[in-house]
Amino acid sequence: MTIFEKIVSGEIPSKKVLENDDFLAFYDINPKAPIHILAIPKVCIKDFHSADSAMLGKLSEFIQEVATKVGLDKTGYRVISNIGFDGGQEVPHLHFHILGGAKLRFDNLA
Ligand code: AMP
Repeated sequence: MTIFEKIVSGEIPSKKVLENDDFLAFYDINPKAPIHILAIPKVCIKDFHSADSAMLGKLSEFIQEVATKVGLDKTGYRVISNIGFDGGQEVPHLHFHILGGAKLRFDNLA
């Protein structure tokens, strides 16, 4: 079981931003930007490459809702998903980093 499944179940606490039946968004514990949120599906899918397009479509809408909720739709933001070893993925549960709150440099990656 990954740490994100434990966050979904409530076993590990998180600072939630938004939740629906399928997805959860919470603040990253080690923020790389003034606003750094993770958006995940509640079911464990390993990574972006393993995800189907219907789910990714719904997750994209959820990410837009999250960004709007915290005001990033007005100032801009970055969305990143790390995939596998070379992608720097540490938690093998699909997640998108939502980063904003300051002008981000391209090398300021999550
Ligand atoms: P990645 O390197 O793309 O797999 O990103 C994993 C992210 O999960 C990192 O940015 C971590 O800071 C974050 N993270 C790990 N544990 C927690 C936690 N308990 N609560 C919130 N974020 C976490």
